[in-house]
Amino acid sequence: MVGRLLQDVPQDEAAAARADALARSLIEAVREGSGLLGGVEELLHAWSLSTKEGVALMVLAESLLRVPDADTADRLIEDKIGHGQWLEQTSGSDTFLIQAAAWALGITARMLGPGETPEGIVQGLARRVGMPAVRVAARQVVKLMGDHFVMGETITAALQRAASGEARRYRYSYDMLGEGARTRVDARKYLVHYQQAIAAIGAAAGKQKLPARSGISVKLSALHPRYEATSVARVLAELVPDVIALARAARAHELNFTIDAEEADRLELSLDVIAAVLADEQLAGWDGFGLAIQAYQKRALEVIDWARDLAQSMSRRLMVRLVKGAYWDTEVKRAQERGLADYPVFTRKSATDLNYLACAQRMLAARPLIYPQFATHNALTVAALVELAGDPASFEFQRLHGMGEALYRSLLERRPDIACRVYAPVGSHRDLLAYLVRRLLENGANSSFVAQVADPDVPIAHLVRRPQERLAAAAPEQRRGLAPPPSLYGEHRRNSDGVELGDRKALAGLLHEIAVGRSGPRRAASLIDGRPGKGSERSVFSPIDARREIGTVAWADEDLADAAMESAARAFATWNETPVGERAARLTRLADLLQDRRGEIIALLQDEGGRTLDDCLSEVREAIDFCRYYAAEARRTLERSEKLPGPTGEDNRLRYRGRGVVVCISPWNFPLAIFLGQIAAALVAGNSVVAKPAEQTPLIGHLAIGLAHEAAIPREVLQLVLGDGAIGAHLLKHRALAGVAFTGSGETAAAINRGLAAREGPIVPLVAETGGINAMVVDATALPEQVTDDVLTSSFRSAGQRCSALRLLCLQEDIADRCLEMIAGAAAELRIGDPRDPASHIGPVIDGDAKAALEQHIAGMRAAGIGPGRIGDQALPPTGHYVAPHIFEIAGVDQLRREVFGPILHVVRWRARELDRLLADLAASGYGLTFGLQTRIDASIAHAIRHLNAGNIYVNRNMIGAVVGTQPFGGVGLSGTGPKAGGPNYLRRFTTEQTITINTAAAGGNAALMASLPTD
Ligand SMILES: Cc1cc2nc3c(=O)[nH]c(=O)nc-3n(C[C@H](O)[C@H](O)[C@H](O)COP(=O)(O)OP(=O)(O)OC[C@H]3O[C@@H](n4cnc5c(N)ncnc54)[C@H](O)[C@@H]3O)c2cc1C
Repeated sequence: MVGRLLQDVPQDEAAAARADALARSLIEAVREGSGLLGGVEELLHAWSLSTKEGVALMVLAESLLRVPDADTADRLIEDKIGHGQWLEQTSGSDTFLIQAAAWALGITARMLGPGETPEGIVQGLARRVGMPAVRVAARQVVKLMGDHFVMGETITAALQRAASGEARRYRYSYDMLGEGARTRVDARKYLVHYQQAIAAIGAAAGKQKLPARSGISVKLSALHPRYEATSVARVLAELVPDVIALARAARAHELNFTIDAEEADRLELSLDVIAAVLADEQLAGWDGFGLAIQAYQKRALEVIDWARDLAQSMSRRLMVRLVKGAYWDTEVKRAQERGLADYPVFTRKSATDLNYLACAQRMLAARPLIYPQFATHNALTVAALVELAGDPASFEFQRLHGMGEALYRSLLERRPDIACRVYAPVGSHRDLLAYLVRRLLENGANSSFVAQVADPDVPIAHLVRRPQERLAAAAPEQRRGLAPPPSLYGEHRRNSDGVELGDRKALAGLLHEIAVGRSGPRRAASLIDGRPGKGSERSVFSPIDARREIGTVAWADEDLADAAMESAARAFATWNETPVGERAARLTRLADLLQDRRGEIIALLQDEGGRTLDDCLSEVREAIDFCRYYAAEARRTLERSEKLPGPTGEDNRLRYRGRGVVVCISPWNFPLAIFLGQIAAALVAGNSVVAKPAEQTPLIGHLAIGLAHEAAIPREVLQLVLGDGAIGAHLLKHRALAGVAFTGSGETAAAINRGLAAREGPIVPLVAETGGINAMVVDATALPEQVTDDVLTSSFRSAGQRCSALRLLCLQEDIADRCLEMIAGAAAELRIGDPRDPASHIGPVIDGDAKAALEQHIAGMRAAGIGPGRIGDQALPPTGHYVAPHIFEIAGVDQLRREVFGPILHVVRWRARELDRLLADLAASGYGLTFGLQTRIDASIAHAIRHLNAGNIYVNRNMIGAVVGTQPFGGVGLSGTGPKAGGPNYLRRFTTEQTITINTAAAGGNAALMASLPTD
């Protein structure tokens, strides 16, 4: 693609030379005199983001203003300032912003005597001036930064500022600050803000005509609580009318109305919304509608063509803002997590720069259907565009308020015929900070032009090097850029393939795959040496529709189970002698088969397990990852014996071998991934396996074993026994049993443990993974929007039927009301329904018994007067086992004594000074599976990690979805025995160790020693 770009953006050498000269003079002007530098450049220079201080300042700013209580604010400041050396950092800088920031933070440090440790700074200061004074000083910095980067706290103030002094040279597009809406109430609030702002901007717009007239920038994510690709029908029905209302209001004032560009997975959705809005008849003939397009996206050129064709078909002009893009790090991470075939964005900065020029060229060629608006702070990009664009009346530049001031002041002095518009954030400082931090992080990246221009050590020649030259000169390894997501785990293990559900073509492909894979009723039976065993026949019903029979299953009797054990025992020796590499190769083949048959597997996971599309996809991926990971681990750790140190004349080695027959008993909540994960580990370690899937999901178990046999795992080595807990218990009595892998309830694990202890003969090891009362602790520094997203995912995804799911949310009381309101409001927007519909967020629970148990718990809470209870008022589909999300606020941690396996969240409040007590109460439950923590205070993170014994701790993110090899999973205490599934110690538990000592000197003396003697 880069090759094509290089051809598409021709170099006119004379024009390039003129652009070079202009870029150099702009950069020189920016670098001359500190007075000309904008705030960000100064700030980054004084506190480089790579230093602790730079990051600490940003984190402090981001979180401080939302902390309502003094205690937590103090701890946050202590955490961030106590470790910074503000005074040293600021020496040599004389601009007002830095001086003031240094003063507010530095003065506190100056009050301390020399020789005090950084850790003691805040404690010492607090003793001398009191913590409130420190708090005030730190808040002052934040306010100062806010004043610099926000145009006004209200639209009126912002408009006044724009109308005064030098500000009048610019056009404006106002932006209402804030995070995306999580609730309907928040979306409504933003809508009203936008409406009020449009009215005010319109009233102040004077006589200017478009395109010079003022405008507004709108974020669609602020206007709908589920602005996501899979909710497309709902978004079009609910969001489009609101955007039309805003656009009509903007049209009434003839304003420029721009839809901001957001994450790549929302691109197609945003284009749908834009097309639907533009089709509104009342907007006909209006040339002020616009959209932003991100040049770092590989699809940018296509989007420009789309916009041009749309403008043409509607016989009007669109205003198109070309940006490079603000979410690069998020896009890269998401593509890796989702296992996409490639990144949606370029992975080389020069490729983004070059694509920007290619896009600009395409837009300029589409004039007058498109009015190009070039948003950049890069002097080289600006200079190149001045050359490319020609007629200055036919386009404009754009910059962010508080950034790029010197660059554009200098440009406009040279070229007063060129126009520039300022993107002007409006809102309270509290709302500004998240925006500010994103901007600073983005522009503080080493590759960023703004960061480089601020660094006097970067020569101008480097800054004006054209992207074409950089790309052409790149070494092969640079040319490759970031490794693509499939190679995330290096050469030994391929990442499993995912699907971007926001990519319509990819989603349609997946849905087609599933439709083709969906079969009629299935018949499952135990597989003894691959042959179907007889047994009592039962119907299998779908949790989606309890009346729909999706197949039958024959439950094994005890004789059949014994036959499976005996045959597996006979097959063990040969399998154990099969080279590790060969065993691993068969697992890898199974992984490939799972990938190939994904549609069929997902169809069955939906029908039998009631799992949503997203869940199914991640489950198939996890199963694939398990197979590939254990295969790679076996090659790494089991293939060769380990040579041990010892005396000369002796060869000492340790090797690992299979144990014998391992029984794998797995649950219904991950009927494929956990089932195959246990089996894969036991097999590759050299064991033969008798697998017993959960009685609720025999069809998936049967399909999975069939695939394993197809992957050349010998039928005698892998046996399938279908039935309930009783047949599982019977298997464990067999004398051939050499190991047990179990995932399920704590009660069953305890019963298995007792049963094993009562056996005669060798002691059989048990690897048990059980549940937990998983808690998340949230303090007042956490971002409520992030808490809300993470709580929703952790509690309600998979209808709460994950062992890692959040059961107990512990909110610091100072923020509890606001957080709870947002969580409940957001949960009310989750769609409960048929999991085969990609728009469903919550499917059914597994069966009637599970539903009844959850309803009983809900009734018990209600009877005890505990609220608030059910969230939302959506009618539940009548045919399946659906349970609506519930939230119950309980008085204390000890009120939740057992795991409630469903979409039910319990909440407790805690006081700022009582974190230790809370942690002690949580530890007292005896469980230790997952634990979540949301805070910006590093000391609290370290403290919780020290004091809690949970198996998986998640900080500032959701607490489910452990990734194989990345987050090895499993608990301690009542939550499991370890070792962790998907971790480096798991395989060994399925092996026996053998030490081999050979006296190499037994025959003929120690020739090796004699030969190695040095000559003297
Ligand atoms: C008026 C205005 C409106 C804006 N509106 C939006 C908007 O609606 N949506 C939005 O997303 N952003 C928006 N932005 C932000 C904009 O995307 C950034 O300000 C912009 O990316 C900075 O580009 P630059 O030319 O100033 O800087 P430069 O430093 O020249 O370029 C930075 C760009 O390079 C990219 N980059 C860095 N490293 C790499 C790499 N290894 N591989 C590939 N690319 C890389 C960065 O992600 C970034 O996009 C807006 C900016 C302005 C000025």
